This record gives sequence, structure tokens and C-alpha cells, in this order.
Amino acid sequence: MHEIRIAEDLSTIVVDTAKREKLLNVTKVNICFGKLVQIVPEIFELAFREAVRNTPASNAMLHIEILSVEMRCMKCGSDFHLIDNQYVCKRCMSDEIKIIQGKELFIKSIEGE
Ligand SMILES: [Zn+2]
Repeated sequence: MHEIRIAEDLSTIVVDTAKREKLLNVTKVNICFGKLVQIVPEIFELAFREAVRNTPASNAMLHIEILSVEMRCMKCGSDFHLIDNQYVCKRCMSDEIKIIQGKELFIKSIEGE
């Protein structure tokens, strides 16, 4: 379950940021996941709760946004969404595909007071 490791990494960032920004209480954390990261949001949230226990972020609301998978064909340059795990360009049928969105994992913003 990589959710636990990711939750621990992200909670460290949240707590460090709260310290740096002198936040006593983190109210909301907005997180973006690419679809390819394959997070189960419920498991992630549980792991995150555990990781931020006894920190200024212990009561933070978690908002998780899942980003769709976007790809670009390296042959004809067209962009498209991944559908049915078909890594083939719909226009020219090339399989020289680059993933331009869907593997990211980042904290979009942290709110607090
Ligand atoms: Zn193409």
C-alpha cells in the first residue's frame, strides 16, 4: 500500500510548511494526484490522519483532486486523454506516446491561520 508512504511524505511537507508560515492550525490541504498514481483516496485519507496526529494539521480538511491522464503523440503532436489504457495515437496510430499529465503528486495549497 503506497498510500501510507505517500501520506507520510506529504504530511511532512504540510507540517514543515505550517511551521515556516507560522500556522497554528492548518484548516485545509488541497492535494492533486495524477490518475496513474493509483491512490485509493479513502486509504490515503486514513493514513494522512494518522501521520498528522498531534501536529498543527491534525484537524485539517483534506481535499483530493484526481487529474486525468493526458498524452501527446511524438509523431503527429496531437494531445489526447487516455481511454481504456490504449497507449496509441488515435490520429496516426503511432505508439510513440509521451505522458504529459497523470503521474504527478503534489500539494496544491495549504490553508490555515
Ligand atoms: Zn499521432
